[in-house]
Amino acid sequence: MFLVLLLSVSAARVLTRAVDTYQQQLVKQVEERTREIKSLEKLGHMLTACKDSGAVAQVVQTIMPKLFKKSIAGALAFIDELNSQLQIVTTWGGATRQGEECYKLEDCLAVDHNHYHASNDTNGYCPHLTKKDQDQVCFPLSVQEKMLGSLSLEAEVESEISTDELDVALSVAEYVSLALSNIQQKEKLEEMTLRDPLTKLYNRRYLEEAGRQSISNAQRNDQKLAVLVLDIDHFKRFNDDFGHEAGDHVLAEVGDLFKKISRNNDLLCRYGGEEFVIVTTVNDDLSARVMADKYCQSIRELSLDFYGKLLPPVTLSIGVAMYPDNGLSLTELIRTADKALYQAKSQGRNRAVMAF
Ligand code: GH3
Ligand code: MG
Ligand code: MG
Repeated sequence: MFLVLLLSVSAARVLTRAVDTYQQQLVKQVEERTREIKSLEKLGHMLTACKDSGAVAQVVQTIMPKLFKKSIAGALAFIDELNSQLQIVTTWGGATRQGEECYKLEDCLAVDHNHYHASNDTNGYCPHLTKKDQDQVCFPLSVQEKMLGSLSLEAEVESEISTDELDVALSVAEYVSLALSNIQQKEKLEEMTLRDPLTKLYNRRYLEEAGRQSISNAQRNDQKLAVLVLDIDHFKRFNDDFGHEAGDHVLAEVGDLFKKISRNNDLLCRYGGEEFVIVTTVNDDLSARVMADKYCQSIRELSLDFYGKLLPPVTLSIGVAMYPDNGLSLTELIRTADKALYQAKSQGRNRAVMAF
C-alpha cells in the first residue's frame, strides 16, 4: 500500500515537472513570437518613413540582426533596371559578398522563379551563392509580378534557418517589397506634372494616385487616416469685392499656410477652385477634429496683405471623413467628407464637421 502511494506521488511529481517544463517552453515561444511581431511592426513603421531606396537598405541593415540569431547573416540586393542586374546594397551579420557586388537576375533562382528558394543539394544552389555547405535561402522582392530585388539569408556551418525564421524572413521580404514599390511609385508620380502652379500644392491627379497608396499603407499598418475637404467661404464674393488677382493671392497664401501647418507625410492637394483635400494619418477621431480646428483657426488668423493693402480675413469650412470608419476608398471618403462640408456650410461656415 505504502509502495503504491510512494509510486503515485513520484509519478505525480514527474508529471508536474513535465507540465512545468512544457509551460516554460510555451511561455518562451510566446515571448519570442511577441518580440518578433514587435520588431516586424517597428520595421513596417520605419520602412513607411523611408524616402528612398538607400534609406530602406539602412533600415534593413539595422533591424535584421535584431530579428535573427547571431549565426544568421544576410544580404539585400535591389534590381538595377538600367543594367538588368541585381546590386547588393547592404549586408549584415558578416555575410560574405562572394566578391561580387552585382550579379545577373537569372543567377538568383528566387528572382528567376519569383518564389523563395532554399539552396541545398536537392533543390540546387543559387549560382550567385558560392558556399555549398551551408543553409542558405533567397526571397524575391516583388509586388504584383514586378521584380524589385532579393533578400538572402545564410546560416553559419553547424547552424540552420528554422521554419519560424523563414516565416519572419518572408514577412520582411513583403514589407521591403511594399516599401520599395511605394518609393518607386512616388518617384514615378513626381516625374509627372503633379503640382498646381498657383499654390504649389499637389493637384487632383496626384491625389488620386497617392491617396490610394496612403490607403493601402494605412491598411497594411493598421492605421487610421483622416480625409479633410476644405473650402474657402464666400470666395466668389471675395473675388467680386477685391478682384480675381487678389483672390489668386489669397489662394497662394492659403496654400503656403497649409504647408506650414501640415506634417511631413501629409498629402496636401488643391482639389479644384477654392477647394482643397488633405489626407493624413491620425491616431483617432479626436486628433482629426483637433487638426481640422487648427486649420480653421490658422486661416481665420491669417493676415493677408496685397500690394500694401490689408485684405479682410478669409474663413474655411471643413468636412472630415475617417478611414476605415467612413469608407475604404478615396472616392468614398471624399464624398463623405464633402457631405460633412455641406453641413459645415449650412451650420454657418467657418467650422469643421466630422462625418458620422
Ligand atoms: P461657399 O462659401 O458656399 O463655398 O461660397 P463660394 O463663393 O466660396 O463658392 P462658389 O462655389 O459659389 O464659388 C467659388 C468661387 O471660387 C468662384 C470662383 O470665381 C472662385 N475661384 C475658383 N478658382 C479660382 C482661382 O483660381 N482664382 C480665383 N481668384 N478665384 C477662383
Ligand atoms: Mg467656397
Ligand atoms: Mg467650393
